[in-house]
Amino acid sequence: MLPPIKGLIENTLIDWEGKIASIIFLPGCNFRCPFCHAGPLVTAPNALETIPFSSFKEFLERQRGWIDGIVISGGEPTLHKSLPELCAAFREMNLGVKLDTNGSRPEVLSMLLERGLIDSVAMDMKAPLGEKYLTATGGKCDIEAVKESIALLIDSDIDYEFRMTVCPAFLDREDVIQAARDLRGAKRFVLQQFKPDFCLNESFRSIEPYPRVRLKEFAEEASKYVKMCFVRGEPTGEFTGAVEGTQV
Ligand code: SF4
Repeated sequence: MLPPIKGLIENTLIDWEGKIASIIFLPGCNFRCPFCHAGPLVTAPNALETIPFSSFKEFLERQRGWIDGIVISGGEPTLHKSLPELCAAFREMNLGVKLDTNGSRPEVLSMLLERGLIDSVAMDMKAPLGEKYLTATGGKCDIEAVKESIALLIDSDIDYEFRMTVCPAFLDREDVIQAARDLRGAKRFVLQQFKPDFCLNESFRSIEPYPRVRLKEFAEEASKYVKMCFVRGEPTGEFTGAVEGTQV
């Protein structure tokens, strides 16, 4: 059985650079990042409606020629055993596949890479690799696994990026620079603005984000260690399940 699809954005131009993609959201996550915006998907996925794969497939068939690929996001998609079958189903439809992951399951990432089931990966970098990684993931992280995923991507030929939400509650300039050092040689390291609204941990909702100009300064310094580092606009807002106006 394929993983349940709990949310869909039909078309996006910004989640896979240079592509027109649809994003699907799979339920469940093994982290509890206090700044997470996917609350219901992480803590109460069963309360969300499931979009039948057959309906999504019909939608994709109607869009044939317009959509380049599918972004599989979450939650954490690699927790689903049948993720490879889902990727293969999109492959059969001649669609590209991009995976969003928190990097906690390197064995799954490695298998998807080996089997050629994904074309692109965006992996979260929650903090520099150390004590703060635990704080940033709600104490739920195996840092060795994250390190393994980082190494896999840096050593691969695939298109990838690492992205970090710069949450002022526990990340400062030195943390961003240290994270870039931890990613030394990576193709792309993207800094994302922290957005307080709807954070999983309610006490984070009153935290002021860094001014964009400061993030740009962080990015400039971080770019000494990676091939490219820049600030991306606003992160996705609150996750509320299947997106309104969805036509499937
Ligand atoms: S931010 Fe991502 S990794 Fe963290 S809890 Fe939310 S879905 Fe999971």
